[in-house]
Amino acid sequence: MLKRGGVHQAVREGTLVDGCGRRIDHLRLSVTSACNLRCLYCRPKGTIDPFTSAPVLDDAQRLELIQHLYETYYLRQLRLTGGEPLLHSTLVSLIQGIRRIAPDLDLAMTTNGWRLADLARPLLDAGLNRVNVSLDTLDPAQYRHLTGGELAPVLDGIERCMAVGFPPPRINAVVLAGVNDHQLVDLVEWSMQQGTEIRFLEAMPIGPAASFNRDRFVSAATIRHALSRRFELVPLHRNHGETAVRYLAVHGGQRGIVGIIAPVSERFCGQCRRMRITADGRLFPCLLDERNVDLRTAWRHGVFSPDTVDDVVQSAVEAKQWQGPALQPTAMVQLGG
Ligand code: SAM
Repeated sequence: MLKRGGVHQAVREGTLVDGCGRRIDHLRLSVTSACNLRCLYCRPKGTIDPFTSAPVLDDAQRLELIQHLYETYYLRQLRLTGGEPLLHSTLVSLIQGIRRIAPDLDLAMTTNGWRLADLARPLLDAGLNRVNVSLDTLDPAQYRHLTGGELAPVLDGIERCMAVGFPPPRINAVVLAGVNDHQLVDLVEWSMQQGTEIRFLEAMPIGPAASFNRDRFVSAATIRHALSRRFELVPLHRNHGETAVRYLAVHGGQRGIVGIIAPVSERFCGQCRRMRITADGRLFPCLLDERNVDLRTAWRHGVFSPDTVDDVVQSAVEAKQWQGPALQPTAMVQLGG
């Protein structure tokens, strides 16, 4: 088999191509489906037990899988997610392991920021490149209502991240009508002060929060309109695979970057270069399609079979549709958002 870094690297680039001709070289890997929060738009109270003892991949299996995907399919970006990835007790050593086998992989993480203040330094030292932090409101009471958690540790985590030398984290805010849609300007101004980029997300009607999200849906057009009443929005170039449409937001002497991610009203499936692996080893080629395959079949009596991974991954990715059917019963907390 051809391996990355050898003379064949250029030949091998882009070998994982879906049935619609899109190169799939970004992986979202959920390291746990446990989460300390219960965000209303993701895992409303009482819907999913985040601390089940369902069988999961262990880190050794994850490393075997990542090494194979990296070397065989020229994986370019790996985003660690969850659940809440910072709840995974061996996250730092997992990142060290990934960095050892994939020195030039773009390695990012999406987190709710809880525990980030303590872990920022070890995560950076382990080789993590970038962090996205989910933060939907700056109002502590509303944060508690929306997520069940406390705001202060998240703000500390963001600050600490920058203090230890990470690039300013990108902030992800899901916009919900009647909840935080009146706070968009405040969130942008706060981000400008921090020097961070903020991205507003349309709430996707998936999993147990589907009807909650449908009822409170705010479209990208409405978000743009609300922001444009305060800021001049200058469109920025969209890189291939970029989920957000990004703008330079300007008001007087203030400026900052704002992104809008619109998976519902302005779908960007044509840009898709992703696949997802859940904590329990299921590969979801498309976020909006419930079809998935079990990668755990790649281990027989503890021995990893690269050929099985190739068969399973290639046929699942080949079957990826241009646009998923947008019926996803699995919650984001399990899919790895
Ligand atoms: N716990 C981590 C966090 O909070 O960032 C990682 C997992 S979380 C599922 C990943 C991202 O998905 C978060 O930015 C969250 O806001 C977003 N998300 C969750 N449910 C969503 C939904 N229904 N629509 C849009 N984004 C959603």
